[in-house]
Amino acid sequence: MTKQNDPYDVVITGGRVMDPESGLDAVRNVGITSDKIDIITEQPIQGTDTIDATGHVVAPGFIDLHAHGQSPFDIKTKLRDGVTCPLEIEAGAYPVEVFYKEREGKAQANYAVSVGHVWARMAALDGVDPKGLGMYTGAMNACVVDGSQWHEKNTDDPKDIEKILANIEEGLQQGAVGIGVPVGYYNKCTSAELEAVFALAKRYNTFIATHVRYMSNIQPSGIMGILEVIALSFAYDVPLLIQHIHSTSLHRTKEALSLVDAAQKRGLNVLAEAYPYDFGSSVIGADYLGEGFQETMLMDYSDILYIKTGERMTKELLAKYRKEDPGGFMMMHHMRMEDVDAAMQHDGVIVGSDAMGFADMNGKNLEWDDAPEKGVAHPRGAGAYAKTLRLVRERNYMPLMTAISKMTYLTARWLEDFVPAMKQLGRLKPGANADITIFDPDTVTDNAAAETGKFALPSTGIPYVIVNGNIVVKDSEVLKVYPGRAIKGGNG
Ligand SMILES: [Zn+2]
Repeated sequence: MTKQNDPYDVVITGGRVMDPESGLDAVRNVGITSDKIDIITEQPIQGTDTIDATGHVVAPGFIDLHAHGQSPFDIKTKLRDGVTCPLEIEAGAYPVEVFYKEREGKAQANYAVSVGHVWARMAALDGVDPKGLGMYTGAMNACVVDGSQWHEKNTDDPKDIEKILANIEEGLQQGAVGIGVPVGYYNKCTSAELEAVFALAKRYNTFIATHVRYMSNIQPSGIMGILEVIALSFAYDVPLLIQHIHSTSLHRTKEALSLVDAAQKRGLNVLAEAYPYDFGSSVIGADYLGEGFQETMLMDYSDILYIKTGERMTKELLAKYRKEDPGGFMMMHHMRMEDVDAAMQHDGVIVGSDAMGFADMNGKNLEWDDAPEKGVAHPRGAGAYAKTLRLVRERNYMPLMTAISKMTYLTARWLEDFVPAMKQLGRLKPGANADITIFDPDTVTDNAAAETGKFALPSTGIPYVIVNGNIVVKDSEVLKVYPGRAIKGGNG
């Protein structure tokens, strides 16, 4: 509606505008009205707020489908990494309603969650309420009292499956974006149950995002885990997102990638994701750290770090923490950089951070304005996106437009079939959502590292981030504004 002469709410002048959808890569001025991109032009334009983006790239806000960490501190850190949509899709939440309610009017970035099969199982099999993001509500440890049925029980009783499915359905009806199926954490889940979950996804016209079974180089391997979900995706005609493909395929990542290519060639809607690190992080009670992990994952006890105490594991310590604190976080060195590169650089593989929530050294939650030096967790939660851009610069990792596409457009385009709001995200064009990330391609860098005081250091070289037309990061400072909106699936 804006006339050419009216000032826009925000204008971004002189930046190198890069839009992965159209391929536009040129110096342009961008005018924003309300929450939308209004104009992209070579002509000078005026705005109430002006951002001089000379020497900077103006890109769509980065979309992360793999952001476990969802606290205000985590989201603030994500914004510094250029992410305007940090979504929790792999583990998801249950009840989904709780997740959305907690964020209404309080979110600095856009938010969305899948319904987590894992939490739906805990609620059904252990009677534990995961209270939203079960990863941070002690749900996993609470199940220990009951013998962790979600993890220990074979689901061959149709009544169990029925209860689990009812919980997943409830999540979809509450707006969940897809179904998160991290089955690699509950290998006793039967094929009958997985089939039922895929059939449900088809009924709701949604997708399955998964951490596959068998994080292993040897049989049964991560490749078998991928074959299982590709077969189910084909049989039930359900779109599939294989998250962190390199961290479960390990030394066989190239084989995993060619399987995904082959499936796509046959017309399957399968997407793979990767993060740019050769070490991982998760809960210490994970199935794959059970007996024989040295052979399956080609690592030793000392390659596993228990985050709360900073201890490297021994046989005794690992057994102790798996028993006493199965939901406690660990980091582990189980990948080779050549496999990480293969996944990150592979055509069509999207970037997702797998960000774990930051806490302090004692495992206590952090406040929004706590110093970044206090945060402890895998550095990918702070630096995955800037690191990708740094690799583009330092190692000629891939064309810059390709990197931006993997962090924005490819993700949005895949999701838009199930998540209508995604049609207006991941693009820089008139009419699109004004989610915009402005970075300096010559200096942008991650600063987070797996060293004391450095885990959560924010990325630099990303001075401005705009969410729904609102400047949230200004001169590399996160402002106290809350323009984030709920993004919901088509059934909510
Ligand atoms: Zn995972």
